[in-house]
Amino acid sequence: MTNTRILVVEDEIAIRDMLVFNLGRAGYEVFPVGSGNEARSSIADKHPDVVLMDWMLPDVSGLELTRQLKRDPDTREIPIIMLTARVQEDDRVAGLEGGADDYVTKPFSARELLARIKAVMRRGSALENEAIIVGNLKMDTGSHIVTADDEEIHLGPTEYKLLNFFMRHQDRVYSRGQLLDRVWGGTVYVEERTVDVHIRRLRKALTPYGCDMLIQTVRGAGYRFSLRGE
Ligand code: CA
Repeated sequence: MTNTRILVVEDEIAIRDMLVFNLGRAGYEVFPVGSGNEARSSIADKHPDVVLMDWMLPDVSGLELTRQLKRDPDTREIPIIMLTARVQEDDRVAGLEGGADDYVTKPFSARELLARIKAVMRRGSALENEAIIVGNLKMDTGSHIVTADDEEIHLGPTEYKLLNFFMRHQDRVYSRGQLLDRVWGGTVYVEERTVDVHIRRLRKALTPYGCDMLIQTVRGAGYRFSLRGE
């Protein structure tokens, strides 16, 4: 498994450095940025597991950026902890209504922040413990059991991860490179052809249930998972 990745969005260098130091020491992989724009590209690029978001940023407010991330189906599941010096109750409410998962008021201790991070991640994994249903396919993400018409389908670990990703991201085309990044993780080096091998295996496992056509090849672009026809 890859490390838990934390994106730190904070324009104050002293606080950012403190966070990078403490989170790194706690074993997290940390990506520090200083503006909303950098945050957007870093999220697309690094797929962080948690975002620490400062309220006041030079280009956009952390609150507005949080709203945007929570509206986007690609990023809405990433837990966001807002960091702010504001202490008024109204701001706290605005932060949570904007979609932030938690709220830490500056100055905070590293210990408190680490506890908050663990808490939002636990909540996240409890949420992931659910059944995803697409057509006659059902995936129980707690037990990792996949069924079609209540019959269990046996999948290898990579095929399971691939199907899990597809079921959560329907109707969109992903290139082989994007699938490698999102399913295999950006840190391992795998040839793009490997994606085709696992797609073939997955289709084969789904064929007896008529679900292989859910995985569509989009010529020159990649693959799409969709209930709609090609
Ligand atoms: Ca700031």
